[in-house]
Amino acid sequence: MVSSLIDHETKWWKPNVVKALFLPFEADTILKIPLSQNLSDDALIWIGNKKGVFTVKSAYFIAAKLQVDKDVGESSSGDLSALIWRNLWKLKLPAKIKIFSGRVCVNGLPVYMKMMERGIQLGWDCPVCGDEPESLIHALISCDFALSVWSLWQDCPLHLLLKATDLIDVVHIFCSSPNAEHLEYFFAISWTIWHNRNLLVHNEKGLSPLQVWDLARNVMNDFHEANTVLWPMEHASNGGWVALLAGYFKVNVDGASPLDDHRVSGVGAIVRDDSGNIVAALSKALPSHYPVEWTELLAME
Ligand SMILES: [Zn+2]
Repeated sequence: MVSSLIDHETKWWKPNVVKALFLPFEADTILKIPLSQNLSDDALIWIGNKKGVFTVKSAYFIAAKLQVDKDVGESSSGDLSALIWRNLWKLKLPAKIKIFSGRVCVNGLPVYMKMMERGIQLGWDCPVCGDEPESLIHALISCDFALSVWSLWQDCPLHLLLKATDLIDVVHIFCSSPNAEHLEYFFAISWTIWHNRNLLVHNEKGLSPLQVWDLARNVMNDFHEANTVLWPMEHASNGGWVALLAGYFKVNVDGASPLDDHRVSGVGAIVRDDSGNIVAALSKALPSHYPVEWTELLAME
């Protein structure tokens, strides 16, 4: 408790206690913090928003800002990284495609060149065309099959895709588009191209470019239709707690990533019925440490 560090008679810090509990530079900083003469009770306050109340969204923005500050210190790509993560968070796509999008942005798809770098010998050649080593940009963009799919999208800036040498440059092109739907199209089409690639890897029958394009459109349309249903929760919600209508369930999820990169991230979920009774709950450790944005997406999965 902070109050145990304060002398209630002098209404000032107890220097010996502070110096005994904290590192010297921390103690110096603490002892310079002025104290209220009212000595009000301790309270937990979240500095991420004006109300002082913790929300996942505010934690996400703080984490994104910390990442930007770190990136700016290391290179000039900070703004770019923040722009991409902000846009990923807002995508109106199924959770599985959002997770896929996060993996694309951190170069986390198991393309053959990536597997080779990790010492897993699966061959180099693209399993779709067999003509080129399978890099991330080849698999999703420059493979002849992928280009046939992209060319079916009328708004696709194909000339820009052909010039790109790194997939993150392509993501940036779509993040900068004035039409927010373009980024959703980009990831939905990329996901279906990857889905088709995986069918072939598992010796299943592949799809035609037209079927891949149709699948992407159907995935987007189904998601938009499902989300235009007027859910009872949205009716009365003004940001406060609203009881569920009879027969509905509420699912809350959360993901956590420790600051220490050596510890694994974790996710949790809880399902409650309209009376608030817990119907199901889950908490599990993930196989590795992931960025906070990615962990939140995995929690939704
Ligand atoms: Zn190919």
